[in-house]
Amino acid sequence: MKCDVLVIGAGPAGSTLAHQLARQGFEVRLADRKAFPRHKACGEFLSPQCLPYLQDLGVEAEVRAMGPMLVRGMHLNGYGQAATGRFRQLPAATTPQLAGFGIRRERFDELLRAASERAGAVWMPRHEFVALRRANDGRVIGAQLRDAGGALIDCEARWVIGADGVHSRVARDLSVQRRVAWLDQFALVTHFRGVTADPCAEVHLLPGGFFAATTVDEDLFSVNLVVPRRSLRERSAADWDAFVASHFEGAPLLAERLAHAERVAPWRGIGPFAHTTRAQTFPGAALVGDASGYVDPLTGEGIYFALFGARALGEALAAALAQPGKSENAMATYRQARRRELVPRMRASSLLQRALRHPWLVRAFLKRAASWPALADLIVTLSGDTIHPRDLLRPSFWRAFRAAEVA
Ligand SMILES: Cc1cc2nc3c(=O)[nH]c(=O)nc-3n(C[C@H](O)[C@H](O)[C@H](O)COP(=O)(O)OP(=O)(O)OC[C@H]3O[C@@H](n4cnc5c(N)ncnc54)[C@H](O)[C@@H]3O)c2cc1C
Repeated sequence: MKCDVLVIGAGPAGSTLAHQLARQGFEVRLADRKAFPRHKACGEFLSPQCLPYLQDLGVEAEVRAMGPMLVRGMHLNGYGQAATGRFRQLPAATTPQLAGFGIRRERFDELLRAASERAGAVWMPRHEFVALRRANDGRVIGAQLRDAGGALIDCEARWVIGADGVHSRVARDLSVQRRVAWLDQFALVTHFRGVTADPCAEVHLLPGGFFAATTVDEDLFSVNLVVPRRSLRERSAADWDAFVASHFEGAPLLAERLAHAERVAPWRGIGPFAHTTRAQTFPGAALVGDASGYVDPLTGEGIYFALFGARALGEALAAALAQPGKSENAMATYRQARRRELVPRMRASSLLQRALRHPWLVRAFLKRAASWPALADLIVTLSGDTIHPRDLLRPSFWRAFRAAEVA
């Protein structure tokens, strides 16, 4: 089995990358250990900045036809305080998107995967990554996969891409993964029916964790609870409903919304998920999406990170495949794009996580945001990815922000 690029993992990062390269005529194989559609633990909110990427892949109409919720803002709740922020057109915005989507991951990921197949990528469901294959000089020259029947398959590739998510085996094989020990979290996710649809997603901050929820397609209500992993060991509740309910005291508004709702899917768990990688490119291999590092689901930006990373890596790989002698320069552009766009966002997310550990700070912030709606809008718009944390360091941004407020 030979190809130009073997992509491991068909989530948003892998499918987008495979699509981009296949449509340029490269031979791409996309392997996933699961058959699709498959479940993915997620808050199921696509930030507004994802839309230009969906347009570029030619799937916007298909996504809209699925009937996603148009998410126009976020209710922020915690410690008895509440504020609502809307996605706004702010100075320095890179796109004019004012709404994200609430959409089931199972359907969204299958849509992206199918589009990559239409673009020419060869789909290999139920093929699990086992190990990288290396030449004598250490360069990655392919991978060994295990198919559904347990047979080992050697796949030769000019490039192998790890897009296999937070617990990336490719990153582990490359010995670059590092867990973020202080963010040792675990998430439970499910769907409810019978909750009044709301065009705003919601976050309910708790000591050491949070609930996040959003309406998705078919009027389902997607709920996830993120808590420190140690609370699982300490749990006294016998079942997951009781475990989740034991956190409702800190989220009375959500408890009220769910009081008469029916849970229509099992609780599914994932964790720990926070990790970084020491390097993302290697001779013959690269990491993208969650496999290249992931911090925290609070701000709902992981899918955007996956789409951005896939596009940047796709451009670098196309250049490296066209001119193999200049591969290192091409890969440097991917690292640079990641450093400029994603790393500051991940740092901001880590900082936010640290701040949330101080209830007095959360209370004070939410109180201020409730009385100053523009502040709530700014924070929510920042999480929507249409502006960058770097913009906040520019006096010109604040001058324009203030001027827009007065107007
Ligand atoms: C609780 C929670 C809530 C979240 N909520 C949001 C949100 O609301 N909005 C948002 O934007 N982001 C959210 N995220 C983050 C988001 O889910 C991820 O950032 C996003 O899925 C990353 O996409 P990916 O393609 O890199 O990885 P994934 O979507 O995880 O895809 C990886 C793929 O690799 C496959 N795979 C894994 N191992 C192997 C193997 N050994 N061999 C072959 N295939 C393999 C898997 O089957 C999977 O299909 C959330 C994350 C969590 C944990």
